[in-house]
Amino acid sequence: MRKKNFFAGPSVLPVEVLEQLRDQLVDYEGQGLSMIEASHRGGMFEEMYDGCLALFRELLGVPDDYDVYFLGGGATLQFTMIPTNFLLKGRHADYTKTGTWSNKACSDAMKLGDVNVVFDDKAGNYTTLPDPKTLKPSEGSCYMYICANETIGGIEWQEFPDTGDVPLICDMSSDILSRPVDVKKFAMIYGGVQKNLGPAGATFIIMRRDMLERRNEGLTAYMDYGLHAKDKGLYNTPPVFSIWAVKLVLEWIKRNGGAEGMQKRAAEKSKLIYDVIDSSDFFRSPVDPRYRSKMNIVFRLPSEDLEKQFVAESTKAGMLGLKGHRSVGGLRASVYNALPLEDVVALRDFMKEFERKNG
Ligand SMILES: *Cc1c(COP(=O)(O)O)cnc(C)c1O
Repeated sequence: MRKKNFFAGPSVLPVEVLEQLRDQLVDYEGQGLSMIEASHRGGMFEEMYDGCLALFRELLGVPDDYDVYFLGGGATLQFTMIPTNFLLKGRHADYTKTGTWSNKACSDAMKLGDVNVVFDDKAGNYTTLPDPKTLKPSEGSCYMYICANETIGGIEWQEFPDTGDVPLICDMSSDILSRPVDVKKFAMIYGGVQKNLGPAGATFIIMRRDMLERRNEGLTAYMDYGLHAKDKGLYNTPPVFSIWAVKLVLEWIKRNGGAEGMQKRAAEKSKLIYDVIDSSDFFRSPVDPRYRSKMNIVFRLPSEDLEKQFVAESTKAGMLGLKGHRSVGGLRASVYNALPLEDVVALRDFMKEFERKNG
């Protein structure tokens, strides 16, 4: 029997997709060749890749004046590529520090240029977000940077700031396609695919084309978004396997109602767990209720010993990945798109039973 997979990333994939990968691995659609042994120049890879990009555009509603492609290097490489391209000499960029991932992006940017921190909830241990209605970029800023969903802290923007002429750049690694977004609000959206879209390897890039006019000069090849945009990410060898699996996951998302369908699923699944937390004094959510993540549900028990026991017993019951990130402790249930509702129901029942026995 398959485990119930609450890992934060890499994470659960739809079983149908795993089965399709298995069935097609040796001979892709009867072409006598595996997708992962074909050249990435022309032929069956490019046909698959173009289909993948088109479907991604369709599901997210990406306007025509944006480029969409995949790179390697994970979301982490983007922490460097973004300031390398867009943090112009003698200017500055605005960063919001809302948890582990935006902090990492910010500290990389600080090594490359001037950064203005417009929000930092360090004192509150990253449990709340700035009000998107009043958050404004500073005068002369090259861009404003946010992380849509802090995977470790379990905190998620519900609405996004209006930054006017200042480009808004957003890490959507852990909530991409878990809800519809108005892509036009952003100059760039990016993320690793290994949370909501597929197996680790590929990084999605969605970038308004006019951003290329705002680049620094003299960039080395891989660091230059201009080269990647021109070649739709095929400047060098792309992470072929990951991209192929992403295409299958996108098809699965489409069959299951697209971004709206995923939003309904996420609301239903996360409510099951938050309702248990809110109806008890035994479980506690550290996150500002207005900004609770629908993907990564972080919660605490009355003691660390009980948390250890919870992890041990849930693992025995076939539920994996409920231990919180080592940097923050506690517990975390990641309930990404592909996680079946039944698995969340099982967790809810397990939580209630655990409280009955230990509360
Ligand atoms: C996982 C994650 C990252 C890091 O992704 P890598 O692909 O491992 O570099 C960055 N940002 C967020 C929000 C994440 O969840």
